[in-house]
Amino acid sequence: MNERIETNNPEATEALGEKLGREARAGQIYCLSGDLGVGKTVFTKGFAKGLGITEHVTSPTFAIVNEYEGRLPLYHFDVYRISCEEEMEDTGYEEYFYGEGVCLVEWAELVKELIPADAVWITIEKDYTKDDDYRRITIRQEG
Ligand code: ADP
Ligand code: MG
Repeated sequence: MNERIETNNPEATEALGEKLGREARAGQIYCLSGDLGVGKTVFTKGFAKGLGITEHVTSPTFAIVNEYEGRLPLYHFDVYRISCEEEMEDTGYEEYFYGEGVCLVEWAELVKELIPADAVWITIEKDYTKDDDYRRITIRQEG
């Protein structure tokens, strides 16, 4: 799978997240990659809605991982502050990555050697030749 979507406002990015959240299956890992402020958390809020989660989703920057109950459990990671593999191990990530919930990892490129090969990678980018609210979103999955 290799798909490219363009959005022109946060609502459209959230709606794309919601669609993917509705389609998500047990055991999947969604990796979000892109600069600070690009829209990873906006996407995640939609994704959580799509999983039927009604609880307010906030960025887990300090907690590293937050858990939510929906149609499937969602494990929302933000690994921006992880500086070594040991710190990642302390989160107990393997139980989440290889469990029956859905994982969504903001800043996944920082721990890419730990991410299973079949993960879905979602890259969000701005384009400085375009409007401030423009985002290019690429969805990739091997195989
Ligand atoms: P990140 O988690 O990647 O650091 P956030 O999701 O917290 O970023 O913030 C993204 C910011 O960009 C929000 O303030 C949002 O309103 C804004 N924004 C503007 N246009 C878009 C868009 N097309 N998609 C997503 N966010 C957008
Ligand atoms: Mg974020």
